[in-house]
Amino acid sequence: MNADTGTAHADAAHVVVIGGGIAGLAAAHRLVGSGARVTLLEAASRLGGKLQTGEIAGAQVDLGAESMLARRPEAVELARAAGLGDRLQPPATASASVWTRGALRPMPKGHVMGVPGDPAALAGLLSAEAVDRIAREPELPPAELGDDVAIGALVAERLGREVVDRLVEPLLGGVYAGDAYRISMRAAVPRLFEAARGHASLLAAVREVQAEAAAAQPGAGPVFTGIEGGVGLLPDAVAAAVRAHGGRILTETPVVDLARAAGGGWRIRTDERTFTADGVVLAAPAWSASALLADESPAASAELARVEYASMALVTLAFRRTDLAGAGAGRGLPDGSGFLVPPVDGRAIKASTFSTRKWGWLDRAAPDLFVLRTSLGRYGEEEQLHREDHELVAASLADLGEAAGLAARPVAAEVTRWIGGLPQYPVGHPARVARIREEVAKLPGLRVCGAVYDGVGIPACIASAHRAADEILAMPTLARSAGQDAGQ
Ligand SMILES: Cc1cc2nc3c(=O)[nH]c(=O)nc-3n(C[C@H](O)[C@H](O)[C@H](O)COP(=O)(O)OP(=O)(O)OC[C@H]3O[C@@H](n4cnc5c(N)ncnc54)[C@H](O)[C@@H]3O)c2cc1C
Repeated sequence: MNADTGTAHADAAHVVVIGGGIAGLAAAHRLVGSGARVTLLEAASRLGGKLQTGEIAGAQVDLGAESMLARRPEAVELARAAGLGDRLQPPATASASVWTRGALRPMPKGHVMGVPGDPAALAGLLSAEAVDRIAREPELPPAELGDDVAIGALVAERLGREVVDRLVEPLLGGVYAGDAYRISMRAAVPRLFEAARGHASLLAAVREVQAEAAAAQPGAGPVFTGIEGGVGLLPDAVAAAVRAHGGRILTETPVVDLARAAGGGWRIRTDERTFTADGVVLAAPAWSASALLADESPAASAELARVEYASMALVTLAFRRTDLAGAGAGRGLPDGSGFLVPPVDGRAIKASTFSTRKWGWLDRAAPDLFVLRTSLGRYGEEEQLHREDHELVAASLADLGEAAGLAARPVAAEVTRWIGGLPQYPVGHPARVARIREEVAKLPGLRVCGAVYDGVGIPACIASAHRAADEILAMPTLARSAGQDAGQ
């Protein structure tokens, strides 16, 4: 690092980062901070991947990810490092509902991703028989968990299908857009998986995890945080910090080929240029990483090609507050930040977030509007997404009318499709990731990161990026080698 300018020496190791989503940007940030010369190449015309802000009726909102887990440090620290520390804001309300069995019902407390510790908390949400069945779980013979198990399968076996269908499924669906009967318990709730292996009763395992969490974080702050103006502001803020450290960021620059260079290092080809680098961080989604690794690591490439994705659409709607009945923001709508919809109830939408209620900054920035969004589409139900935009808006309004009595017409509607939005974590995914990493480790100077590997949430993506960057920086060839760009 050049002490005067805070930028890398010209002879510092050169690392190319492929992909300018939050993982690639976090990797670039870590690398420039450690003195590497960095070039980040992003295929799209904008940075951020699944993080994106946009406008509805003149109000700035998130059109992709909107909230970051604050109980782990990575996202909050990156936002602070990128100068957004004083814009971090927790949700104004944490209460939500579940639209099931014909009514909006308060989201119960005291569960781990929908797996309850106390059956009594589920009264009303579930039938009385289902609650009784859960209470009798400790009488069952202990479960065999093996190396991994689908969370839905285990919970259905121990506690009955109703709690999977009405609570676990919508909660997991909100994170993975996946299917609880396929999703790996080990990947989705690793701590609960471990606890369940050590207990005869799943209810007891949940209570142990809850007690640990309470003991570890007495009086801890909010679980989630947003960013005033939208979480979608984070990518450009990180990019600005990367550039301030001398990093180069090129958009509209898809990488089309990746190969080891004859004398060591890597050759990274785009349509128009070839870059050489001492190291490469591959922060692209699985299908793209698979294509780029086809020659240098056919085994990693084949594993990556098997990673499946779920697609979804977000429908953002803006209403005039005066068009909503009653008094106060979001009047007429139920209290709280929104509601989840279990697939078993057969509705078009799978969730609705009352953005104006959830985010104080949006409430203040657009005092005449009430903004909410719905999400549609989950793994294996992509046919919903083939519908026209106006049909998705109409389906959302019909469900909102039935669930919450919303009769007003929106003044603006925005449909954002996220095709291949979320990698799926089925049973066996952690083992697949281990195999990918093992194969990639054979490639000197190359590492992978992003939503495919250690979790789809923003902090997990950032953590995987830091791991990739740190491993690259620790490689002896990277310590003091000179990188040069060719073809420029
Ligand atoms: C609708 C939606 C809502 C979500 N909400 C939340 C939320 O509220 N909170 C949360 O924590 N998480 C949320 N997530 C998950 C989280 O946003 C993502 O998992 C995360 O942002 C993924 O980051 P990434 O960098 O791994 O991948 P991406 O964001 O997919 O970025 C990868 C980038 O690589 C680029 N690329 C691909 N191929 C190439 C190539 N050959 N050359 C150059 N560039 C390439 C792509 O254009 C893209 O920009 C949400 C996801 C979706 C889809």
